[in-house]
Amino acid sequence: MGNPCALVTGGSRGIGRSVVERLARSGFDVAFCYRSAEEEAKRVAEHVEDAGARCHARCVDVTDRRAVDLFVTEVESVLGPVRALVNCAGVVRDSPLPLIRDEQWQTVIDTNLGGTYHLCRSLAFRLLKRRRGAIVNISSVGGIHGNAGQCNYAAAKAGIIGFSKSMAKELAPYGVRVNVVAPGFIDTEMTADLPARVRKAALERIPLGGYGRPENVADAVDFLVSDHSSYITGQVLQVDGGIVI
Ligand code: NDP
Repeated sequence: MGNPCALVTGGSRGIGRSVVERLARSGFDVAFCYRSAEEEAKRVAEHVEDAGARCHARCVDVTDRRAVDLFVTEVESVLGPVRALVNCAGVVRDSPLPLIRDEQWQTVIDTNLGGTYHLCRSLAFRLLKRRRGAIVNISSVGGIHGNAGQCNYAAAKAGIIGFSKSMAKELAPYGVRVNVVAPGFIDTEMTADLPARVRKAALERIPLGGYGRPENVADAVDFLVSDHSSYITGQVLQVDGGIVI
């Protein structure tokens, strides 16, 4: 029998990339999608193959429901039934509420929440029919506690939590688990452009000191898709250096 298959969105960079590489080392064949970073995606696929796993990478916009459905079908025909789904694809379009443009609101909701919905919708029936599977959706501490200047992002990330808890209740009787990882500040391109004063203020609030690394999030995801968490569902695991204790 071959490796089980994991599907990761937003696998070309940052946290998603780290998750892809971690799951490959844990014995999964891994499919991932990205929005535009072709060269980065090729490098990630090479890493996966170097780790001895099969990889299937595609440019798929998670906001496009039909493209997602086609991708899921393609992944299962190439790598076999998906055992683990990890929704990492995300964007920010920060703005104070009085100045936010509708496009900023909609892009963030459509990508973070809509994309997560599309993948889960496409895979839910397949997983429950097989009575096996684990889903991990990436939220944010901002989705739990809010963040000034991020009302769109916080709304999407809070939506992911409610969505995931409901799905966890629906799918548990079929042996499918659904959990959420809520990262704090993690060093990726998403946080690289934060103004120095915001970075400094954030650092002062992190009891464990320093920003997290993408690998810290990947370790949590790896645990939540593995059999080591077989009695855990509907939970939100914060990976944030203690920022919201
Ligand atoms: P990055 O900006 O480094 O990477 C984002 C990834 O998402 C890229 O692979 C990108 O593809 C992909 N992506 C974006 N939009 C789409 C789309 N429409 N369709 C398909 N793929 C898409 O982000 P991070 O690694 O920092 O963040 C990963 C997740 O973690 C996000 O959901 C984010 O909200 C969340 N998070 C991050 C935190 C942090 O501090 N970094 C904190 C809390 C949560 P491409 O490379 O092609 O653009």
